[in-house]
Amino acid sequence: MLVDLRDMLNKARQEKYAVPAFDCTEDILIRTILDTCEEKKSPVILMALEHDLQGKGMDYITAVIKGVAEKYTIPIALHLDHATNIELVKRAIDYGFTSVMYDGSMLPYEENIKKTKEVVELAKEKGVSVEAELGHVAGKELDGSSAGETQLTEPEDVVDFVEKTGVDCLAVSIGTAHGVYVATPDLKIERLKEINKVSPVPLVLHGGSGTPLDQVQKAIVNGITKVNLYADLRIAMFAGLKEAAKLEKRIDPLPDKAFKPIKDSLRKTIIDKIAMVMSENRA
Ligand SMILES: [Zn+2]
Repeated sequence: MLVDLRDMLNKARQEKYAVPAFDCTEDILIRTILDTCEEKKSPVILMALEHDLQGKGMDYITAVIKGVAEKYTIPIALHLDHATNIELVKRAIDYGFTSVMYDGSMLPYEENIKKTKEVVELAKEKGVSVEAELGHVAGKELDGSSAGETQLTEPEDVVDFVEKTGVDCLAVSIGTAHGVYVATPDLKIERLKEINKVSPVPLVLHGGSGTPLDQVQKAIVNGITKVNLYADLRIAMFAGLKEAAKLEKRIDPLPDKAFKPIKDSLRKTIIDKIAMVMSENRA
């Protein structure tokens, strides 16, 4: 069933697990994520990035997800990831996204508050939940360019930001980065504890791919309720694609046979991620 993030993340905060949040596009990713999460009885957040919504991307992704969500018993959120453009947020809400992230983390603090608040006002009318980012999670953009400098979240800003904007959950910067890591990250757990102690809303970790399991689990026990994952799924998808390419040519495999190695590889990674965030049997 399709839900927004509010109850989903508040339950996770109370019970100290996180909901896996996967960026996805194309039936093969969406279907494998949903089938695997249903099998493991894990709630899940399906996310789309602006990059994947171009052209008819928004039509395809929302048509597929809205069309199948009611066939699953697990809670499923349809979330817009990292929007920096308010027009895109409006469009996503009109298309039936149940949740949106507005990312003003590159803006000055007051400007981030102003824009985020504007998004919250738009979203609240339609019962759509809103995630914002305070501090900045650096790393790589999808095109491989650098996404600015890391700026850790300041605990004293959190209460002020949440009160002034009315967001439902908050992405914090505590030492992860987007994309594939060049060196093992070192999460600032003490900083997270301070943030979680004062935060009125559940917290979100971006850059979950490649972060060591023990660090992710420590972060979850200390308040992280949503872990964003993309790079690890892309790596799994490509590994499966290379396996698929080895299939005997003369068989001309049917699509289900040709895609099977990709789905198997994705499924294995999704199961690992569900175990990492401790969301099995939480649906
Ligand atoms: Zn992110």
